[in-house]
Amino acid sequence: MQQFDLIIVGGGLAGASLAIALRDTRLRIALVENQPPCAPEGWDARVYAISPANVEFLEAIGTWKHLDSGRMAPIRAMQICGDAGGKLEFSAFDTGVSELGWILESSLMACELWESAKRQGNLTLFSPARPAKLEFRDDAAVLQLSDGMVLSAKLLVGADGRDSWIRQAAGLVAVNTPYGEKGLVANFSTGKPHRNVAYQWFRDDGVLAYLPLPGNRISIVWSTPDAHADQLCLLPPDQFCDRVAEAGANTLGRLELLTPAAAFPLRLMRVPQTVAPRLALVGDAGHGIHPLSGHGINLGFQDAMVLAGQLAATQPWQDIGQERFLQRYQRARREETMLMQTTTDGLRRLFREDSPGVRPLRNLGLNLTNSLPFVKNALVRYALGAL
Ligand SMILES: Cc1cc2nc3c(=O)[nH]c(=O)nc-3n(C[C@H](O)[C@H](O)[C@H](O)COP(=O)(O)OP(=O)(O)OC[C@H]3O[C@@H](n4cnc5c(N)ncnc54)[C@H](O)[C@@H]3O)c2cc1C
Repeated sequence: MQQFDLIIVGGGLAGASLAIALRDTRLRIALVENQPPCAPEGWDARVYAISPANVEFLEAIGTWKHLDSGRMAPIRAMQICGDAGGKLEFSAFDTGVSELGWILESSLMACELWESAKRQGNLTLFSPARPAKLEFRDDAAVLQLSDGMVLSAKLLVGADGRDSWIRQAAGLVAVNTPYGEKGLVANFSTGKPHRNVAYQWFRDDGVLAYLPLPGNRISIVWSTPDAHADQLCLLPPDQFCDRVAEAGANTLGRLELLTPAAAFPLRLMRVPQTVAPRLALVGDAGHGIHPLSGHGINLGFQDAMVLAGQLAATQPWQDIGQERFLQRYQRARREETMLMQTTTDGLRRLFREDSPGVRPLRNLGLNLTNSLPFVKNALVRYALGAL
């Protein structure tokens, strides 16, 4: 049996960033990952809007400076359009910051984090590897891998994504509410410059976002009912481009497809308990959120940051797997996670609501917010600071 202080299962963005944030500690870490990341040729269609607070986290763990700046785009402004003339606009300039966030490819971050993990002195990588059996003892979590190897540690962290094997093996409940929608992603070149503006349209058929990439390129996320998403995926490229351009009010002129469309089923997932004796969950293993607010991995990075901060501050005699210690992590993350899930879910419901009178009201709400600089700035500052 190999002994560690901490075993992390899942070397995606949340798990790998947690491991790296602990690189200067005395903790001996095992990182178990089944499928190491790889960068696709060309542009990755999975791109994320990373908040300034998480840029700071990636800077603090030494990852940000190694990312290729030619492959990331700052968001200088945001335009949110309702389905009946409502409009809400934010700009970095008005908010007094240099950018509202950054758009980055998922694989760009994942590969960089993975390379750092490989070089980390206090970390042993088990990859490709996956867990087969989990047992909790009074003083340790004991994890058997599918090749028969046995690892033990005071604390086990499940960072293995929304279908987390660890969460299920530990018996932690996840309450899933499928949205009946898919998040359709694809990259395009644009006829007109995007000027680093991120656009979002609340439409009858879902929510469409245009996210700026370097040059005249954008990435889209179109959260739309399953049948519509499947239908869009089957369209020939030319027709698909026309549909996406039209849905975005032809704002950026003619679109040309750079990467084929891919669709991801969406669900709200609440996990009432994200810790147990000798166990903690981070990232999508512990919460699922609709992508319309672009907060999934932003919450995951904050989980990693908070848990790493607490672990790094422990004394050698402290038991990091004790539930009382882990409850502090759960309490620290619960409010923000619930707030983001509830707000995002509520916004989605508001714009899916069909009853008469709601449509003008919700659009009026956008216009009203837009005309109140104080409220608007408070909103954007909260989003910048909290995440
Ligand atoms: C369409 C769409 C758009 C999105 N846009 C945004 C956005 O703009 N901004 C944002 O913040 N978030 C966004 N998200 C959410 C984001 O994708 C997730 O929050 C993020 O990928 C979660 O990272 P994670 O590391 O927690 O989990 P994952 O990325 O799922 O990583 C889990 C890791 O664990 C490994 N693993 C899984 N099971 C095992 C096992 N049994 N054994 C060993 N290893 C295992 C996997 O190989 C993987 O590497 C979006 C999501 C969707 C669907």
